[in-house]
Amino acid sequence: MPSSPLYPYTLLRSKRKTLSLQITREGQLVVRSPLKLPEEEIRRFVEEKSPWIQKHLEKLAARQSRALPPLTLTERISLADAALQEIPRRVEHFAPLAGVDYGRITIRAQHTRWGSCSSKGNLNFNLLLMLCPPEVLDYVVVHELCHRLEMNHSPRFWKEVERVLPDYLPCRQWLREEGGPLLDRLK
Ligand SMILES: [Zn+2]
Repeated sequence: MPSSPLYPYTLLRSKRKTLSLQITREGQLVVRSPLKLPEEEIRRFVEEKSPWIQKHLEKLAARQSRALPPLTLTERISLADAALQEIPRRVEHFAPLAGVDYGRITIRAQHTRWGSCSSKGNLNFNLLLMLCPPEVLDYVVVHELCHRLEMNHSPRFWKEVERVLPDYLPCRQWLREEGGPLLDRLK
């Protein structure tokens, strides 16, 4: 493996015209290069890119350090039990404030979404909501209830959410930043 003074990398030569740099999920550096480009030029390229490499490796390390183990079956069952107690209560509280009715409430273990609302008003909620701050749980409940008014994410929809929950934005942000690693625990 050739190496620049800063970062070791794997070099893959092929019939391409340009140099490219990739960082794998495992944090390995891969350089793709034209067949006959001198090694010296490749090294210089990697050196020039070192601030970019540094930034991405730091991001990767931060994400990995936040990774939590997958939830065990016992943990999932106890979260689902807690969600079945708590979430219908929150729905019951917010439905009149949103001015909507609803159908069945189902609790699910999903690693892709926090909640959903069918056209018939049946609501699904992720049991992981029990690991979120209470205001985030409320936000997801209100979000799904507001889909009874607007089946989309249009500005009109967000106005309804804001009407019921004026402080919803930090909750939405929280899910964006912290939600991914949490959802990964159901994989
Ligand atoms: Zn939505």
